[in-house]
Amino acid sequence: MNYKLLTPGPLTTTSTVKKVMMQDHCTWDDEYKTITQEIRQELLDLAEVSAIDYTTILMQGSGSFGVESVLSSMLRPNDHILVCVNGAYGHRMVDMCERHQVTHTVYEVPETKALKAKDIQRILESDTSITALAMVHSETTSGILNDLEAISAVAAQQGVLFIVDAMSSFGGIPINVGELKIDFLVSSANKCIQGVPGFSFVLAKRHELLKRKHLAKTISLDLYDQYVTMEKDGKWRFTSPTHTVLAFRQALEELRLEGGITQRFLRYSTNNCLLRRKMSELGYEPLLDKHQGPFISSFLYPKNQDFDFKSFYNHLKINGFVIYPGKISDVDCFRIGNIGEVYPEDIHRLSEVIGKYGEVAHVS
Ligand SMILES: *Cc1c(COP(=O)(O)O)cnc(C)c1O
Repeated sequence: MNYKLLTPGPLTTTSTVKKVMMQDHCTWDDEYKTITQEIRQELLDLAEVSAIDYTTILMQGSGSFGVESVLSSMLRPNDHILVCVNGAYGHRMVDMCERHQVTHTVYEVPETKALKAKDIQRILESDTSITALAMVHSETTSGILNDLEAISAVAAQQGVLFIVDAMSSFGGIPINVGELKIDFLVSSANKCIQGVPGFSFVLAKRHELLKRKHLAKTISLDLYDQYVTMEKDGKWRFTSPTHTVLAFRQALEELRLEGGITQRFLRYSTNNCLLRRKMSELGYEPLLDKHQGPFISSFLYPKNQDFDFKSFYNHLKINGFVIYPGKISDVDCFRIGNIGEVYPEDIHRLSEVIGKYGEVAHVS
């Protein structure tokens, strides 16, 4: 069945992105290596940084592989990292630190609240053994957009290594990685750049990366080794997801044609505002009252009827849309993403479909 994915990655891609995957590409061919190098440079351009200060490393696997690659191969034995948590992806970073026995402290706020720069500053000031800070920019668990600017200022002022999971935000909102002094930013192919799943990428401050060789706890997630091989001529260390790479190049080209990140951000924001307005008209209450990001929104199960997510989901699916269940631990909600090949007309059509569900539920 064909449907639009209103899930924040994998998401609905264009037919042109899908079409370029019809070619099987050789991995050691010069042309292919050039594509990898162009992608690496294009990502630096999107991050508004120069190839002197920063480099891009592509890493096989989903987004978590990129995050784990940084956490397991870029921290020294005497590093101590403060991990900020307000959702599942922050928790995942904590799990990674535990698994790799990285010394860490957790700063956690409820899933419906944003991280507070002031709290983080207080923790860093009171514990000077902390040398690094990790945060999630857009917490896909709830849809919250954490205050990257304010927190980055604290990281810079305290002089700690700054690691950002910008998985569901990079490419969909302007992020000046250099100005924000981010040392490692992680994102993946199948989120706001609108490619298909298969690899993650790390934008790394070059001199920090170069200082952190031979620290890896695994072979395949060794970010430094991956960099050394890729930096030579664009060859990936191990088999690369060739079809995904071709799709990603096309997706980058389409991002350019759309008018770059500013225009994409505008489209996502327009989608998101329209979605939340329409949902409110239909009587669905948003989970968040503040800090709502432009990528994904959580809505509470309606109180006044016997809401059954499964039947709601199926009703949407047979009418051409797929959404996500909620991911908040203690509140019943569902999530609707508005990134990917999604436009206001899709949101209008979606709200008609959701409106019909209300009628159906009412009648039965
Ligand atoms: C998608 C996502 C990830 C990575 O998840 P994978 O399933 O490994 O791709 C990490 N952090 C955030 C905030 C995400 O949205």
